[in-house]
Amino acid sequence: CGIFAYMNYRVPKTRKEIFETLIKGLQRLEYRGYDSAGVAIDGNNHEVKERHIHLVKKKGKVKALDEELYKQDSMDLKVEFETHFGIAHTRWATHGVPNAVNSHPQRSDKDNEFVVIHNGIITNYKDLRKFLESKGYEFESETDTETIAKLIKYVFDNRETEDITFSTLVERVIQQLEGAFALVFKSIHYPGEAVATRRGSPLLIGVRSKYKLSTEQIPILYRTCNIENVKSICKTRMKRLDSSTCLHAVGDKAVEFFFASDASAIIEHTNRVIFLEDDDIAAVADGKLSIHRVKRSASDDPSRAIQTLQ
Ligand code: GLU
Repeated sequence: CGIFAYMNYRVPKTRKEIFETLIKGLQRLEYRGYDSAGVAIDGNNHEVKERHIHLVKKKGKVKALDEELYKQDSMDLKVEFETHFGIAHTRWATHGVPNAVNSHPQRSDKDNEFVVIHNGIITNYKDLRKFLESKGYEFESETDTETIAKLIKYVFDNRETEDITFSTLVERVIQQLEGAFALVFKSIHYPGEAVATRRGSPLLIGVRSKYKLSTEQIPILYRTCNIENVKSICKTRMKRLDSSTCLHAVGDKAVEFFFASDASAIIEHTNRVIFLEDDDIAAVADGKLSIHRVKRSASDDPSRAIQTLQ
């Protein structure tokens, strides 16, 4: 139901500050209704900080999740991350009862290699689940969303090249999905990177930097702010980004990205926003945001689409 994710790139933040930003983002989305909430952040392994993803999920209110976060003994709140990507979700159950296992983030496996938050409904999830189970992937929840987490791992496990990008994996995943979705992914295989996409469910990205964000040469299309979709209260606070503007934080430029299903969670942080459109894939790597549009799968028949995966 509600998506909020936060990346600080070369903007040092303690784990406590990151928690607070994520929780505040979820609280701004509470008015939409929900039955459970969860977050994924980097774990406490100091040597390879981002190689362990820690999940905290809770049935009930965001406040209960907030309390749970502070109860986590293994979580050192003072640890500072120069770059970090945290994702958070409030769930309004459509498939599977409200409980901690069914709440998001959903994960690819017990090691949390890939985690995902999802708004919407995947209508062909039964076919996908059957396919993935036949390949030995074990499911733990009743949700449609878990198929997405397993599917990205399947695509990763069967990749043809070692250097496949996070955004390519997500592209292949959404070509298999039917239904409506806004998705944000995090992975131990792509530390410091984020990928987000949508079809039929809203998703926007806010950008904050004290540096002037330059227009760069990357051949991508940046979206303008689609003001119609924003509640009138936000209108005046949002600056338009015209289509020639390319947000690009290069090298050591500090930048923060906010991903949300609703502008109300972003406006307190920045008035620079980009609304994703259907089948857009937005990826942040090395502090650089790029967005491209994916071609839909040639086939509308989900069983044929699964064939192309094999
Ligand atoms: N269909 C998903 C589920 O039931 C997502 C629901 C939502 O949008 O919160 O887990």
